[in-house]
Amino acid sequence: METRILPAEGEGLFLACRYISSGELVAFHTETVYGLGADARSDEAVKKIFLTKGRPQDNPLIVHVHRDYDIAPLVDEIPEYTKQLRRAFLPGPLTMIYSSHGHVSPLVSCGLDTLAIRVPASPAAQAFLRAVNVPVAAPSANLSKHVSPVTAQHVYDDFAGRIPLILDGGECRGGIESTVLDCTGPVPLVLRAGLVTRQMIASVVGACGEYHMQAGERPKSPGMAYRHYSPRCKTAYFAADDLEAAIACYEAERGSGGRPYFLVEHSALSALGGRDALDLGGSAEEMAHNLYAQLRAAESCATLLICIQPTCADDAMEGVLNRLRRACGVEDGKGNTQKDQA
Ligand code: AMP
Ligand code: MG
Repeated sequence: METRILPAEGEGLFLACRYISSGELVAFHTETVYGLGADARSDEAVKKIFLTKGRPQDNPLIVHVHRDYDIAPLVDEIPEYTKQLRRAFLPGPLTMIYSSHGHVSPLVSCGLDTLAIRVPASPAAQAFLRAVNVPVAAPSANLSKHVSPVTAQHVYDDFAGRIPLILDGGECRGGIESTVLDCTGPVPLVLRAGLVTRQMIASVVGACGEYHMQAGERPKSPGMAYRHYSPRCKTAYFAADDLEAAIACYEAERGSGGRPYFLVEHSALSALGGRDALDLGGSAEEMAHNLYAQLRAAESCATLLICIQPTCADDAMEGVLNRLRRACGVEDGKGNTQKDQA
């Protein structure tokens, strides 16, 4: 199968409609990361997403719709506070989970009685969703466990020959996946941190909780149980005050003939004495924007990527740190770990 990369206009949209209505997959730009979309109402099309990505069968998908799409037929109820959140943050990088039974293919939510819905802001995503005018189930357009894609080329690198079309909208501005918010209870609950922060949500609706999985519990958001975002090189992770150990790790890798690179926030570069390093940026927004592109860049230059935890304290750092730790196989963000190639 030939994989074409086209802008989200004219021929690109014409083909996208044809592929989506015939049960094929179409990758598309959003403001967070590229998505791998299929008609959410079709079992066969949704099954193809799981097969093509190698995604675990119990990790549910987010449904994407355009800004004027009426979601009432997709859900069982629409809590009042979700209307306020919709006005404040949509279209944008916020996914809301509603109670829902039997309105799209049951494979989308892996049999859960809920449905995650997002209205992406990028003009390319809006043009695509408007053109197809159906709910589109879409996870990030990367092979399962690999780093999420923030350019059309990243999608092509993972899926060339396996999907017919990538709708190119340039580089993704946000860079990390949407905030996932459980809206099935009286107070919304953040299941996955993103650029719409808990503080921002609470400032609109008065309160917002944060979900912590208890030991032995079935996760509320099954995707949280999986390792994600791994670059295809070894990784190591150090606390910000552990520079000496991080440098020793770098020198040891060089001593054994490897090519180590640091991945650090901008202000930490000067302490590395000219050693090879990739720059994450200064603010949380910059780091979110740069993270996946730098993790993918590391795959082509480094044998070992040594991450030093950024000290930036912006609210939006929670989402960045969550991705960075998981890329390095660190669950709690504290220990120094070194992880072999995934
Ligand atoms: P991805 O598609 O890779 O960005 O991942 C989507 C995230 O949303 C995963 O962490 C899923 O577990 C989560 N998710 C999607 N639908 C639901 C749902 N109905 N209930 C809970 N979590 C969900
Ligand atoms: Mg993903």
